[in-house]
Amino acid sequence: MFGSNTGPVLRNLGETRLECGPVRPGAGDTAWHQGRDDDIVWLVLDQADTSINKVSRDVIQALAAEVDKLERDPPRALVIRSGKPAGFAAGADIKGFNDMSRDQMSDLLRQGHEVLDRLAALECPTICVVHGAALGAGLEIALACDWRIAVQGASFGFPEVKLGLHPGLGGTFRLPALIDPTEAMTLMLTGKTAHTDKAEKLGLADVITQERHVRAAIEAIVADKIDRDQPGLKARAFNLASARTLAAQRMRSETQKKAPKDHYPAPHALIDLWEKHGDDPAAMQSAEIESFAALLDTETSKNLRRVFFLQQDLKNDGREEDGIRQVHVIGAGAMGAEIAAWAALKGKSVTLGDVELEPLGKTVSLARKICKDQHLSSIETRNALDRLMPDPKGYGIAQADLIVEAAPETADLKEKIYSALSDKMKEGAILASNTSSLRLKDLRGAAPDAGRFAGLHFFNPVSKMKLVEVVRHDGTEDEVVDRLARFCGAIDRLPVRVTDYPGFLVNRALTPYLMEAMVLMDEGVEKEKIDAAAIAFGMPMGPVTLSDQVGLDICLHVAESLTSHLDKSMPAISDRLREKVEAGDTGKKAGRGFYDWSKGTPHPDAAGGPDDLTDRMILPMLNACVECLRQNVVGSVDETDAAMIFATGFAPFRGGPMHYARTRGVDAILQRLDDLQDRHGDRFVPDPGWQDL
Ligand code: NAD
Repeated sequence: MFGSNTGPVLRNLGETRLECGPVRPGAGDTAWHQGRDDDIVWLVLDQADTSINKVSRDVIQALAAEVDKLERDPPRALVIRSGKPAGFAAGADIKGFNDMSRDQMSDLLRQGHEVLDRLAALECPTICVVHGAALGAGLEIALACDWRIAVQGASFGFPEVKLGLHPGLGGTFRLPALIDPTEAMTLMLTGKTAHTDKAEKLGLADVITQERHVRAAIEAIVADKIDRDQPGLKARAFNLASARTLAAQRMRSETQKKAPKDHYPAPHALIDLWEKHGDDPAAMQSAEIESFAALLDTETSKNLRRVFFLQQDLKNDGREEDGIRQVHVIGAGAMGAEIAAWAALKGKSVTLGDVELEPLGKTVSLARKICKDQHLSSIETRNALDRLMPDPKGYGIAQADLIVEAAPETADLKEKIYSALSDKMKEGAILASNTSSLRLKDLRGAAPDAGRFAGLHFFNPVSKMKLVEVVRHDGTEDEVVDRLARFCGAIDRLPVRVTDYPGFLVNRALTPYLMEAMVLMDEGVEKEKIDAAAIAFGMPMGPVTLSDQVGLDICLHVAESLTSHLDKSMPAISDRLREKVEAGDTGKKAGRGFYDWSKGTPHPDAAGGPDDLTDRMILPMLNACVECLRQNVVGSVDETDAAMIFATGFAPFRGGPMHYARTRGVDAILQRLDDLQDRHGDRFVPDPGWQDL
C-alpha cells in the first residue's frame, strides 16, 4: 500500500534501518533530535548511553522546549518516533521515584501533563510512529498524538499495575477516549500488551506498515488519504454514570479474583477513577495525578518496584555475549522439549536427542505453539523451527557449545549418558544437567570434564517460568558458571547462581511448604482451606494445587531426596502422597491427584482452618531461605527474594520472602517459630542464620 520512497535519510542500524526523515539521531546528549523536511518536523527520541528510551524528567522537559518551537512556527505535520532499534519507549524512568515525596511526584506529573496537553493541542497533524514496544509513559506520548502508525511487530501496553500503579501521564483518560473504554480498562487493569494486529483492531493503531513504507504512510496521513473510524465512538455509551457503574462492578469482581484490593490497590483505584470521572477528562486528569502519587507511597508499589529492580539485576548478570551458538539437548520429555524449543525460538541452533522418536515429533508441534503464544510472525516461526533439529542419533553432540541433559531423574541413567559423551564433545564445550534433586557432586565423576560440568535447573514450563538456577559444584570452573548465566540471559531467562545443595535454593525452600500442606491434610484440614489460606497470603495458587501441577511423583521424589540428604528435621512424608503416586493419581497430568482435574483447574475458596495455618506453611519456607543464605547456597538476600518470586510466584507485593521477614520483624518470626516448634515439633526450629539478618 505504501510503496513510494522519496529519498529519506535511513539510519543504518544493522538489520534495522529506521526511517528518521532528515534526522540523524545519536549525536550529542539530547534526548530528542529534531529535523525539518518538506515542512514536516521530525522529533526522534534517542537518549544517550542507553539502548532503550525511558521517559524521564529530562525527556519531558526537552519535549516541552520542542513544543514551544512548534507552537511558534507550526509545520505541515509533526512526526514523533524513536531512533533506537529496540523500540519506542519502555515507559517512565522509575529509578528516581523512590526519592520523591508525594507532593514532588504530583508536581512532576503536572508538568508532564501540561506538555502532553500542549502536544495534543498542536494544530498540525501529529503522527507517532511506533516500532517495538510503546509502554507506559511511552504510550502516553503516542496517545497525545493524533495518529499512530504501527510498524509490524509493534506493541502497546500499560504495565503500570505490575508496579502497583496505574497510568499517570494521561493514559487513564486518553485511552478510554480513543478506543472502547472497556477494552481500554482491560489493558490498563491487566498490564497486558496489545500486539500489532490487536492494536489495530482496538483502534489504538491507525495504520500498520513495514518499516520501509513508513514515509509513504506519513505522507498518506498528511494528504488526508487514510480513513479511520471516528475515535471515541464507543466512549459515548459510557458517558452515562449508570452504565459506568454497572461496568465498574463487573471489573471490580473480575479484578478482585486476580488482584485482591488489600494486596493490589492500584487496579481498584483505577476502576474508582473511571467510574467517578469517566465522562469528564479534566476531572479525570486531576484525579489521575493525585491517585498516582498516592499509590506511589503504598507498600505494595514500593515492593513491586523493588521486585522490578531485582529482575533487572538478574538480567544484568546474563547480559554479556555467551559464546554459545549450538546447543544439544538430551531427552525430549516435559523439560527437554521446552528447553530445546525455547532456545531455538531465542536464536540458538538446537539439536534434540531422545531414545524414543515420538517425543521428538511432539517437540516440533510444541515449538510451533510456543511461537504462536509469543506472537511470532510466520517468518520468525519458520526461522525458529528451522533452528530446531530432531537428532535421534546425536550428530549434534560434536558441534555443540553446550549440552543440556534433561533425561529421567535417575543417577545411573544420567551417568551412562555422560560416559557416552566422552571423546564426542567439542573442546571447551559445557555439559549441564537439568536435574532437580540429584547432587552434582555425585554425578560429576561420570562427566567427561568435571570442571565443565554444572547444573542448569529450569522450571516447568520453561516458556513461562523465567528463573533458571545456575548450579555449581566445588569443581565447576568460574568461566563455565559465567557463560551459563549469560546463556540464560541470551534466551531471555533470569539466572540465579546457586551451589550444589540438596534441592538447590528453590526446591529446598518450597518443599517444606508443600509437605506441610500434606501434613495438614493428614490432620484433617480440608485441602480447599489450605489452598485458600496460601492464596490469601498472596501466593498465586495453594500448595495442594501446586503439588498436583508439579506432579505428585516429582513431589515425592524431591521430598524423599531432601529428607535423606538434609541434616534437618522435615515434615513427615505423607502416606496419602505415596498412595496417590502408587495408584497413578499423579496430579494434573493424570487428570487426578489431590484434586480432580478432569473438569479443569480447581479454584479453592474456603475460609477457616487452624489459626496457625498460614504460618505453618510460609515460615518454613522463610526458614529454609535463611538456611540457604547461611550455607552460601545463594549470594544475597536480594537474589533469594528474586529467585523465590520468579520461580514460585511468592507474593510479589510482599517483595519476596526475606523482605517479608524483615517487614514483619525477625524477632516476631523467631518467636512464632519457637511457638510452632512447641506445638508441632522440631521441623520449626529456627535456623541459626536468622541472627545474621
Ligand atoms: P520426562 O520423563 O518427561 O522426559 C525424559 C525424556 O528422556 C523422555 O522423553 C525419555 O524418552 C528420554 N530419555 C530416556 N532415556 C534417555 C537416554 N538415554 N537418552 C536420551 N533421552 C532419554 O522427564 P522430565 O520431567 O522432562 O525431567 C527431565 C529432567 O528434568 C529430570 O532430571 C528432572 O528432574 C528435571 N526437571 C523436571 C521438572 C519437571 O517439572 N518435570 C522440573 C525441573 C527439572
